[in-house]
Amino acid sequence: MQNIKEYVAEIKQQIKNEIEYKKLNNNATPHLVIIQVGNVEASNRYVKNKIADCADCGITCELFRYDETITETRLLEVVEELNNDPAITGFIVQFPLPKHISETKVMKAIAPEKDLDGFNKYSKTTPATPLGIYKYLKDMNYEFTGKNAVVIGRSEIVGKPMAELLLNESMNVTVLHSKTPEQAKKFYLANADLIVVATGHIGTLTAEYYLKKSAVVFDVGINFNSDGKMIGDCERNLCVEFQSPVPGGCGLLTRLALLENALDLIR
Ligand code: NDP
Repeated sequence: MQNIKEYVAEIKQQIKNEIEYKKLNNNATPHLVIIQVGNVEASNRYVKNKIADCADCGITCELFRYDETITETRLLEVVEELNNDPAITGFIVQFPLPKHISETKVMKAIAPEKDLDGFNKYSKTTPATPLGIYKYLKDMNYEFTGKNAVVIGRSEIVGKPMAELLLNESMNVTVLHSKTPEQAKKFYLANADLIVVATGHIGTLTAEYYLKKSAVVFDVGINFNSDGKMIGDCERNLCVEFQSPVPGGCGLLTRLALLENALDLIR
């Protein structure tokens, strides 16, 4: 497997070239908006990264910032305005939102044809984290067919769409979650060729589990230890063929997939 940082840099260059080509030929290019409500520190960082990624590739991306006191009604109006604005090709509402606003309502209000995050099940886009992992594996010529995949976590934005992508590639997919008995977890992991861990819990996958030496592990988790250092859901340096690092792994693939979704929305 190629180093993820190098891979992302290569694909970003390809996207940049595609955008330049489109501009030279007066073809449509993505015009994105990120809606951010409030001032959550992690969101500030994610939004800054997304804007920088777009700038690197020559993609227009505007930030609409609102105070955390904005009402749900007003935010839904903003979403509706963007849905109807022909100049805007795609947009994101950065989560989490303040407690008085329903994320589900907002998610559902985004028109499928403008849904950059791919959270709406009718969208032509796919949620960025599973898509990023999937495209990376595809580009590495990973042989999916008939192999055993274990996805730990069953959220709507990571676990479930990841499992679906792998199932569509004819893998034998098992999805584990917080109610999975320990014995079953051991059993499935011992037989897994591909493991995707997305629980948000430090130590979900440790060296105590028997894993195939040929296994490939993607660690989606973002956690912070007591020193404020970012760590994943998996113990580092597991005895496997490939393990994505944290940071510098699935986060980068997720950001890359958002750029790919931006292009898909205008294709
Ligand atoms: P959710 O909290 O929505 O879902 C977590 C899932 O993990 C649930 O299905 C839950 O099971 C399961 N789970 C929790 N604890 C355990 C456990 N000990 N063993 C097995 N399963 C468990 O999280 P998300 O899917 O949104 O995100 C997961 C992690 O990935 C988070 O750390 C998040 O920050 C990170 N993330 C990283 C991204 C990136 O760019 N790198 C992008 C998106 C997310 P149950 O359903 O039974 O409750």
